[in-house]
Amino acid sequence: MQNKSEIANKLKRTMEFYQELGFTYLPVKIEQKRGSAEARKCESEEVQKSGSKQARKRESVEVERRESEEGKESALKVLRDEIGDCHRCKLCKNRTNIVFGEGLSEAKIMFIGEGPGRDEDIQARPFVGEAGKLLGSLITKLGQKREEVYIANIVKCRPPNNREPEEDEILTCRPFVEKQIEIIKPGVIVSLGKVATHALLKIKTPISRVRGNFFDHHGIPLMPTFHPAYLLRNRKDKWLTWGDMQKVLEKI
Ligand code: URA
Repeated sequence: MQNKSEIANKLKRTMEFYQELGFTYLPVKIEQKRGSAEARKCESEEVQKSGSKQARKRESVEVERRESEEGKESALKVLRDEIGDCHRCKLCKNRTNIVFGEGLSEAKIMFIGEGPGRDEDIQARPFVGEAGKLLGSLITKLGQKREEVYIANIVKCRPPNNREPEEDEILTCRPFVEKQIEIIKPGVIVSLGKVATHALLKIKTPISRVRGNFFDHHGIPLMPTFHPAYLLRNRKDKWLTWGDMQKVLEKI
């Protein structure tokens, strides 16, 4: 049996040996005896510690998300109040309802159309008619639900007889959709059709030439694609829009 000073000397020599080799700590693995109650206690304490750390992290991420969602929702409410019973342009004369837009304030994807049609004007909700059904299937293609995206229009009131919104109407209403984008900060904007694409990108290039390519909209990627109403009339072009959505999917 070695005495204590022999053991201490042996340990010292061992440490000096490793130090000369350049180690700054001892390369030893402390073995936990299998079945030892002590070891099991340590292990379960470690598991508990890391589990509760993860739970705390998850909780704080969720709190942050909720705070951001509440902030965005109240900012959207303020914007809606600011629009009020709008009489800023001539579209107010024939509308039944203002169609502000709807969806998740934390949406990753924001769809922007041209302006409300008859059904939308009656229900005060965007894309609820025939074109809306097709938009719904586009959203499904993206693996999303309608409630998980945000949908808005360039003009918030129905143009008479579904005519295209005029330049002055777009200029008057565009700041509101721009503000919606600024509040929601989606990962991707999808502009549906010529009017939305031209209004947001301030270009005049035909939609057939720009669709399928990402553009920058104040730091947010914007994908122009065909308007669902156009696709209802030109079903053969649907696959082009499916392709555009595939690119959106890759982006998010
Ligand atoms: N077309 C649009 O551009 N927007 C709607 O909300 C409905 C149809």
